[in-house]
Amino acid sequence: MTTAPTKTRRSSASLIEAEAPVLAHNYHPLPVVISRAEGVWVEDVEGRRYLDMLAGYSALNFGHRHPALIEAAHRQLDALTLTSRAFHHDRLGQFAGALAELTGLDMVLPMNTGAEAVESGIKLARKWAYEVKGVPADQATIVVAGGNFHGRTTTIISFSDDDEARANFGPYTPGFRTVPYNDLAALEAAIDDTTAAVLIEPIQGEAGVIIPDDGYLAGVRAATSRANCLFIADEIQSGLGRTGTTLAVEHEQVVPDVILLGKALGGGIVPVSAVVARREVMSVLGPGQHGSTFGGNPLAAAVGTAVVDLLTTGEFQSHAADLGKVLHSGLTDLLGKGVTAFRARGLWAGVDIDPALGTGRTISERLMSEGVLVKDTHGSTIRLAPPLTITEHELTTAIAALGRVLA
Ligand SMILES: *Cc1c(COP(=O)(O)O)cnc(C)c1O
Repeated sequence: MTTAPTKTRRSSASLIEAEAPVLAHNYHPLPVVISRAEGVWVEDVEGRRYLDMLAGYSALNFGHRHPALIEAAHRQLDALTLTSRAFHHDRLGQFAGALAELTGLDMVLPMNTGAEAVESGIKLARKWAYEVKGVPADQATIVVAGGNFHGRTTTIISFSDDDEARANFGPYTPGFRTVPYNDLAALEAAIDDTTAAVLIEPIQGEAGVIIPDDGYLAGVRAATSRANCLFIADEIQSGLGRTGTTLAVEHEQVVPDVILLGKALGGGIVPVSAVVARREVMSVLGPGQHGSTFGGNPLAAAVGTAVVDLLTTGEFQSHAADLGKVLHSGLTDLLGKGVTAFRARGLWAGVDIDPALGTGRTISERLMSEGVLVKDTHGSTIRLAPPLTITEHELTTAIAALGRVLA
């Protein structure tokens, strides 16, 4: 018997069941199948609406399908999408200039994914160490922090201390020294004549939104300057408005030598990442020494430029700072009522749930039933990172839902 093709929409359950045998199981998504979205709201195939309190791990800082970003993408789709870097195109210089100005650094290396930006930062630091600092061949080291998350490539997972991310993917890339996060003395002790760079997240997102003590980032800046090594800030998740400032390092008025950006830089439309660096550092790269077929393509450059444009007025940053206070006070009210601790800056929070009430996963599932989408990180911690376009009412609605789920 043959089944007639059906015109009816398939259910979430049947779509989830259908993908299981053909899709790698490297994720364990919540059982929601999204088919439409706008702003802070997503809709599943059954037409249920959810408030997106994850925002693609900050890839959707401007919400889903922000009109200015969609318009920039449409316009570019109608003109030019890809040239490769074998030729110039008319959008890349403008993108690089805008991004350099936004970050206060000099030169931009466009890539695609966050992990590629991290890899590129590592390569840049090593080359700078040999050619400028004078580190003996193949001796360069990079100091990283425990609990880090910088992506999924073989080199990057080599210096991860997350066993799941690392196990059975060896042999591992050498040249990294791990020190505890937020421990300046340990960091200083790990730096020596071979050190090319210190690579850290200004706030550790994946680890549960771990915010270092005041003075840590300034201390990293001072230690790296003193030792003549580079300070690389991975702002892929913390940057571009999330914490109430353009960059999270601004909370300590610190300017790194190299900034890694990604996620929100693509406006939730295309993968766009970048390494932004001081001229003296970026200048070690010459033709043929690094590259990417898609890096800095016209569509990416058009969307990336529109993203930078959105950030130039400071509106998103100040909205994130203002609503960050609402988030902070809402979570403070939940302390002792299911929330054991939380860490928050701007519109970004890691919330530790009383393990007796469930794992981060079960809390996330219950929040989903309440129409709010979040993601657990480790154990009983959930991460809140709504689009920066969220209204105060939407935010308090989400916090109230969390309160109900924990009650
Ligand atoms: C997400 C993330 C990355 C990796 O980005 P991908 O685009 O997933 O490769 C790197 N660093 C940090 C801090 C991140 O949050």
